[in-house]
Order: sequence, then C-alpha cells, then structure tokens
Amino acid sequence: MRVLIVGAGVIGTSIAYHLAARGAGVVVLEREAVACAASGKSGGFLALDWCDGTPLMALARRSFALHAELAESLKGDWGYRRVTTYTGGMGRTPALMGGAEPGWISPGVTIAGQIGSIATTAQVHPAAFTIGMMRAAEARGAEVLLGETEGLLRRDGDVIGVLFNGAALEANAVVIAMGPWSILAAKWLPLPPVFGLKGHSLVFQTGAAIPPEALFLEYAEPDGSMLSPEIFPRPDGTTYVCGISSESRLPIDPGLVAPDYGAIDRLKALCDRISPFLVKAPVLASQACFRPMTADGLPLIGVVPGTRGVYVATGHSVWGILNAPATGEAMAELILDGAARSTDLSPFDPARLAALDPDRVSVTRRLRG
Ligand SMILES: Cc1cc2nc3c(=O)[nH]c(=O)nc-3n(C[C@H](O)[C@H](O)[C@H](O)COP(=O)(O)OP(=O)(O)OC[C@H]3O[C@@H](n4cnc5c(N)ncnc54)[C@H](O)[C@@H]3O)c2cc1C
Repeated sequence: MRVLIVGAGVIGTSIAYHLAARGAGVVVLEREAVACAASGKSGGFLALDWCDGTPLMALARRSFALHAELAESLKGDWGYRRVTTYTGGMGRTPALMGGAEPGWISPGVTIAGQIGSIATTAQVHPAAFTIGMMRAAEARGAEVLLGETEGLLRRDGDVIGVLFNGAALEANAVVIAMGPWSILAAKWLPLPPVFGLKGHSLVFQTGAAIPPEALFLEYAEPDGSMLSPEIFPRPDGTTYVCGISSESRLPIDPGLVAPDYGAIDRLKALCDRISPFLVKAPVLASQACFRPMTADGLPLIGVVPGTRGVYVATGHSVWGILNAPATGEAMAELILDGAARSTDLSPFDPARLAALDPDRVSVTRRLRG
C-alpha cells in the first residue's frame, strides 16, 4: 500500500508516522517546510478532559494518552511534560486564590483558580513534535518531498495519485492534510469548506527559572476589546504567548503568512503586564499562523464524499496539536483496514458538511489570489 499525504503539518506527519509504523509506503508532499505553519507556531498545550461533553471527547482523551506513550516509546525530544494550569485576569481585584499560585506573574494579574493539574494538562513544543513525527515516520521508510501539489491524477474516474511539481505520482490512497489550505483541494474534490483564523504569538527567551505552569487569562484592552492571552513556559527556557486573533485573508503561499500591522506591538504591551520575566526577555519569534476551521467547528476526518481512496484530515481548530496522535492512528486504520477501531470517527465524517456546498464560494473568497 502506497499513500501520498499532502501537507506536513502535525496532522499529515502524525498520519505518516502511524501508517509507516504499520508498514505502509508513505510519501509526504509539502509546499514549504515541515511544521512551517500553525503546527510550528502554536502553543502546544494539551488537555485530557477539556473536550469532555463534546464530540471531540474520545479523540482528545485517546490523543492525550498517546502523547505520553509517544514521548516515552520514541524517546521524543519535543519537550513533552505535564503542567499545572491556572486561569485569571488582569487589572481587577487582588488574587482570589490562596496558597500555591504562579510566583512569576505580575501583581496586577489576578489568579482565579487552578484549571488543570499534572494529571490533566501537559505540553509539547509543537514544531519539535511535528518534526519528530516526521523523523519517526522516515525511520520507518516514509519520505518527504518539497514542492507544489497541483491537482489529482485520475484514471477511469478514480483518483490514482497527484500531480506534483509537474510530475505524476501514483498511489493507492491520497490524504489531504493541508490545514486551512485544504480549501485549495476543493477545486479538485467535493470537499466541505475549510477556512483559516489567524493568530499572533511571541516567543521569549526567559530562561529556566519559570516552573512548568500554564496560564489562561482574560484582559480588557484600554479600548474595551477583550483578549484571552495564553502563556506557556517551555522546558527549553523559552516562553510562548498568543492572544490576538484576526479574520485576515489566508495567502495561498504558506510562506507569505505574516503578522497584521500593530498586532505584535499590542501583544508585547500585554506581555509586559503579565510577567516581569517577559518585560526584558529577548524576543525569539514574532509570528502569525492560521488555525484550520470548519463550518461546525469539528474536524473533517475520513473519506472525501463520493470518492474512493481519497481522504481528508483537517479543521482541528484550537486542538490540532492535542488531537493529532489519535487522528493519525485512526486514519491509518481507516486507510489500511477500511475502518477506524481506536477512535469513532463518525462525528467527523466529511459527508456531514457536504450539504453546505454553496458556502464554499464565500470561503474561497477569503484566499488572496
Ligand atoms: C495561535 C495558535 C495557538 C494554538 N495553540 C494550540 C495549542 O496550544 N494546542 C493545540 O492542540 N492546538 C493549538 N493550535 C491549533 C493547531 O496549531 C492547529 O490545529 C494545527 O497545527 C493544524 O495542523 P494541520 O497539520 O492541520 O495544519 P498546518 O499546520 O497548517 O499544516 C498544513 C501544511 O500544509 C502545507 N501546504 C499548504 N498548501 C500546500 C500545497 N498546495 N501542497 C503541499 N502542502 C501544502 C502547509 O505548508 C503546511 O505545512 C493553535 C493554533 C493557533 C493559530
């Protein structure tokens, strides 16, 4: 069995790993670089039970367990560790919480409570995890090819591969895992709409003094805009902060994604109020990326409606790093065995959104040509 996976984000590389681990031939086709988009620029926060009570519950719980297993079995160097997680706000009343609370935050930050423990919350460095999945797949025979996937190759109506850099690549199965750029595949396939929501982030060199704690805050800017910054100190001595989103257009070339004018200054001003550690720390990265979204907020994971041998896995929104491992495992089962056993994929069946076809036109307009 030979499988072509289009897109080397965390979803594409996780599928590649699980397929290669089961002996399939895998080629990952990436336009820019492994982990160049959201999978390299996200928070990497993981939670066991924050999706409970939603259709994502089984996928998230299985993924949380797999993250621990993968870090252990592959001796992963992607900064997996358990964290204690707090919530709070800024510029309000004195701390509501007695006892233990982050000692590295500014007095103006009010901690309202602990919302995760080392039993329920964890983190990875997302770029290192995504690259780690690809390296583990390569160690099992997979390969990555850099270049542009231009369309599908068909014979007698069936998809038999892709057109890549002007050449025909044949395979038994094709997986679309292009994150928000999966919308481009809607030109080739009856895919439900996918779009991207932009998020900005900063990475600081803060040193090793900050303990393994994550923070989710609420903050009212002087003009009344509400922001929800997320702060993740990492074991490599860096601290990641995100918190400003926008509905900016998605450029077709992933290499052209850049922060909106003024967004990084707003985020830095916010960081200066969160922790004295962030005020003077060198900034290692000022960046933006697009999380892949769908019309109903749930991912698309399964067979592309009306096709044979063509699959899609995208639309993981704010939980793509968390939910990549179980997505990869279940997709490998679907492709190799004809059905997923480890996680029920029926809530994510792409056919559920096929009826929304006309919306694809307006979503396509979000792309800059
Ligand atoms: C600010 C922010 C913070 C986040 N924090 C977290 C978090 O803490 N925890 C969590 O679980 N999730 C988080 N997420 C969500 C997570 O980052 C995404 O859900 C996830 O990275 C999506 O992965 P993906 O592989 O689907 O897409 P992407 O990472 O976008 O990868 C798609 C790949 O396809 C490639 N591609 C595009 N066009 C083509 C083409 N024509 N041919 C070939 N390849 C192509 C791109 O170059 C890219 O490498 C966050 C997202 C944002 C924006």
